[in-house]
Amino acid sequence: MATQPILDPTVLEAGRRALLARGTSGRGDEDIVLTRARGSLVWDVDGREYIDCTSQAWSNNLGANDPRVVEAAIEQLREITHIRPVYSSLPLFELSAKLVEIAPGGLDRVSYSLHGSTAVETAMKVSLRNRPAARNILVLQDAYHGRSLATLAASWPHPGDPFSPLQPRFTRVPAPNPYRPRIGLDPEADAALCLDLLRDTIRKGVDGGVAAVMMEPIQGNGGHIEFPRSWYAGVRQICEEEDVLLVLDEIQTGFGRLGAMWGSEYYDITPDILVFGKAVGGGFPLAGVLVAEHIQAFESGDDQLTFGEFPVSLAAGLATIKASEEDDVCTQSRDRGIHATKRLLDMQRRHPLIGDVRCPGLMVAIELVQDRETKAPSPAAAREIARRSAQRGVLFGESRYAGLGDIIKVKPPLDIPYEQLDQALDVLDEVIAELEGEGLR
Ligand code: PMP
Repeated sequence: MATQPILDPTVLEAGRRALLARGTSGRGDEDIVLTRARGSLVWDVDGREYIDCTSQAWSNNLGANDPRVVEAAIEQLREITHIRPVYSSLPLFELSAKLVEIAPGGLDRVSYSLHGSTAVETAMKVSLRNRPAARNILVLQDAYHGRSLATLAASWPHPGDPFSPLQPRFTRVPAPNPYRPRIGLDPEADAALCLDLLRDTIRKGVDGGVAAVMMEPIQGNGGHIEFPRSWYAGVRQICEEEDVLLVLDEIQTGFGRLGAMWGSEYYDITPDILVFGKAVGGGFPLAGVLVAEHIQAFESGDDQLTFGEFPVSLAAGLATIKASEEDDVCTQSRDRGIHATKRLLDMQRRHPLIGDVRCPGLMVAIELVQDRETKAPSPAAAREIARRSAQRGVLFGESRYAGLGDIIKVKPPLDIPYEQLDQALDVLDEVIAELEGEGLR
């Protein structure tokens, strides 16, 4: 049973007014103030329980507040909290040894950050340090790499972008989209065309050479797009042939989300630099990069943040990885993903609103369309599904990114009990039926 804190409503209101910016939580009418979490469940300030199919931005792969992680963090807290990066700590060495052990083959060194965005910037800096003559990093259209100045620019064009005076320029290359292949092409031909365009862009599309191609194994915020298998092998080969580094942003796909430890492993594509974040900290802020043996390290002063190697997060990260191995979260993710995907495919047969069902593992999403033939997106349906589901005690992620807004994400912790997963999917089924009954498109 959730115990609720005593709350002064005037303080709550004053705090709300004082905040510079808030994201929207999905329920629509008001924000959801969360006070407690366990596993796949969260509770709000009014004692309402929710099944959390967002894993709080796909970060609680292990389930919220896993006691093994909480205990490790508390133990570290009691000893020492902050250490500036010129000194070392025990969890720094222990986690680094562990990460290198579980990393895709050949990635043998690691560096840390507290946010995915800063870790992506580290990856950019390592790339430029290793290709000093090159002036460009290529990214995919509809990519998402973060919201710092540089990563925002590396992502899908930011509407109205007021930040451009201080942003670097990135060249965005087209990527295949199996649900919407280019006109007259099937997904494989679309992938082959995009590979040709990637090669052309490296050779002829930029001034000053390309240091790296950076991409997510599955485009998470940009529509939950899994590419055809041939794309992954093709990108690796082109990078090899053109002497360009490959950066994989595994901030969403790492640590079991796809039913494998890494997207790199799942798609059999080894990067030169791998960016991780979100789930590694087990709920604590932690991110970083893993780099291949041939990559030259930074020079002194290239990359150092005051809290970049925060011992509490490092200790939590180590406990998270050990617990993930103990519980075999990859198998859990794969099995639950198969179950959820089967149920969603069944819903798709009954609900014309569901245009597409996406996986693998528990990287699950549906795309809502107004019409199956034209595939015209239905952001209104996605918004309403998220809102009504939250009112019924289930939190689903939405994607308002890349001009889409028609994606509902079903990405709970990887160990969600089947009963809760089924309850959440029942609510989704019920809400979609209701919307279709109301004629919403
Ligand atoms: N890359 C990807 C693929 C992400 O999904 C995110 C976060 N959604 C980021 C980078 C940025 O991470 P952070 O929000 O921790 O800065």
